[in-house]
Amino acid sequence: MAAPPLMLDAETRARLWRQLVEAIETYATKLETGRVTPPLDPVQLRALLSRFDFCAPMDAFEALDFLVEGLWKFQTHTPHPRYYGLFNPAPTTMGIAGDALVAAFNPQLAAWSHSPLAIEIEQHLVRAFGARFGYDPAQTDGTFASGGMEANHTAVLTALVQAFPEFSCRGVRALAAQPVLYVSAEAHHSLLKAARLCGLGTDAVHEIAVEDSLRMNPEVLVSSIAQDRRQGFAPFMVVATAGTTNAGVIDPLAAVAEVAAREKLWLHVDAAWGGAAALVPELRPLLEGIERADSITFDAHKWLSVPMGAGIYITRHTDILDRTFRTAVTYMPREAAELDVVDPCMHSIQWSRRAIGLKVFLSLAVAGWEGYAAAIRQMVAMGALLREQLEASGWQVVNETPLPLCCFIDQRHAEGRSAAYLHAVAMKVVGSGKAWISTTRLANSLPVLRACITNYRTSADDIAALIESLEEARRQLR
Ligand SMILES: *Cc1c(COP(=O)(O)O)cnc(C)c1O
Repeated sequence: MAAPPLMLDAETRARLWRQLVEAIETYATKLETGRVTPPLDPVQLRALLSRFDFCAPMDAFEALDFLVEGLWKFQTHTPHPRYYGLFNPAPTTMGIAGDALVAAFNPQLAAWSHSPLAIEIEQHLVRAFGARFGYDPAQTDGTFASGGMEANHTAVLTALVQAFPEFSCRGVRALAAQPVLYVSAEAHHSLLKAARLCGLGTDAVHEIAVEDSLRMNPEVLVSSIAQDRRQGFAPFMVVATAGTTNAGVIDPLAAVAEVAAREKLWLHVDAAWGGAAALVPELRPLLEGIERADSITFDAHKWLSVPMGAGIYITRHTDILDRTFRTAVTYMPREAAELDVVDPCMHSIQWSRRAIGLKVFLSLAVAGWEGYAAAIRQMVAMGALLREQLEASGWQVVNETPLPLCCFIDQRHAEGRSAAYLHAVAMKVVGSGKAWISTTRLANSLPVLRACITNYRTSADDIAALIESLEEARRQLR
């Protein structure tokens, strides 16, 4: 064989692609016959890897087999229909195809002239999703991102630049007062990290208490802003969540938008998961008010089921990304300098960037809005079924949301409200390999079990199996 074998010969490639495609197809179709959860043994894994000293080249098929077998054995299978987890989907067929093409064509998304089609596809998608949220397509801008974390980071940066233009060059130290932003006590912790990454520090994130429904209390927001202003802070942003991670709750977007407008604060809606409700006519009203947001985070790798990661930051301020990210450079390609186009590296955090939007494009083109609406509707129906069956078997569901996410405690066990017992139930279920669920603690400090439908293939049989696993755990802990 010719060396160095960075590109294998034609005959080997032909066989390798066949084997690869077969492995992908087998995983997609046989996955549900296996366990959901892996053994967790770092010593075993390190021993397995110790044979790789990379001194002698390995046969391509042996290497591929190693990884396929290893991934089968050693991962929590988020694409499994009995993975009731943290919004991680089973990837769409077209999403897998899109990502494979991206790996092969390797489009570089730093400069428009290097990847004009891929970049225009992403901009087209940003406007299409913006329109679903109620933005005017002529006044919509945005960028794809690695995920919700990066999209939320982008949101905090843009809000800072809008409120404090001097921040761009002179940084936080130039500001006369400490900027603060508001999130609900149930908001995603990526906002804390974003505040840290922006140089604000996590103390700049002021948590607003939630109501019993776990929704942000707009009155507490109003009084916090007033109090902070009195104390010399500089409020600049409020983040509402549409679909909280813990409990799938949607903050009162219209009421929060009202406050933000009155107080002249940047309104960001973190709709990483729940934003998909915009694709289903009967769920769309849940997001009433999102159209007033200055910016929105939406993760296509959550409810739109494309392979990770595919965050999207969308804004109705068409100049703000430029003001936030533009830098002067001389070495970047200049062929498109005279065209009415944007170089993504001047418009986002990343520089060299993988084409994130293409897997979304292929998935949406083939499913259509209708196809996505049907898939989301199906998951919502499975969520309602889960809620019903949990309650029928003596579990009390404590969160209220139309989205398919149940937080629950055990009514039939003396310890049914204790964190230790609920954790033990989750560990029994996870340890059985029959499903993945988790525990969390809600803002009202109630410990709960948590199960979320994130998979378009989860069926009534899968729900019944989860109920059975929970029952088994309960029996074992009696
Ligand atoms: C998942 C999620 C995030 C973080 O997004 P990543 O894609 O994991 O980086 C932020 N906010 C909410 C509401 C989420 O559901």
